[in-house]
Amino acid sequence: MSDQEVSKSKVEAVNLAPAAATPICPIKGGAHKALASVLMSRSVRRLQRDHRGYPVPFMVVQSPINLAVIDPLRHREGAQRKLCGVCGERLGNKKWFVGGNITVTNRLFLTLPMHEECARYSLRVCPFLSNPAMKYRNEAVAGSANPNVSPTRPHAFYLLRTNGYTTAVIEDTRYIMANEWEYAEEWRDGERVSLDKV
Ligand SMILES: [Zn+2]
Repeated sequence: MSDQEVSKSKVEAVNLAPAAATPICPIKGGAHKALASVLMSRSVRRLQRDHRGYPVPFMVVQSPINLAVIDPLRHREGAQRKLCGVCGERLGNKKWFVGGNITVTNRLFLTLPMHEECARYSLRVCPFLSNPAMKYRNEAVAGSANPNVSPTRPHAFYLLRTNGYTTAVIEDTRYIMANEWEYAEEWRDGERVSLDKV
């Protein structure tokens, strides 16, 4: 797949509002209890761990480990080979994303898509997604100051499914642009929001 160079006017056309926070884990402090209680899939168990025991997602910087920064080479390889951003294995026909309400609308992600089970694991275990008390470190999430990333942690996250994506380079940043959503669920604080709570 070649990158799609997106002109300035096209960028405006896709409504490049600040992208909602992404499911990478800028974690700090003690390990979250979900790490011990939520079952890991076989592919997640194969990942290396950080010093607290958190699995290190395929798409982040591995050496030295930095859970908050996307590795650009892994991102490129993953986008070209259709790999899961968490476990690094090939995706099937369905691609799953986790995003806030802005990414639901603009469908632009800094992170790679995931398997369903990897996305659900991240929603339950990643402290950024599951723990409202966690401090949000904006500079770490963006890798550098990135005007397209929201400086605040969204209240709710969405688990989203689509059948494919393209890549787009916008002002030197590579984004994944998901196809139309086929399915969505709302999550708050590491739990799926049931319909009567929405
Ligand atoms: Zn996976």
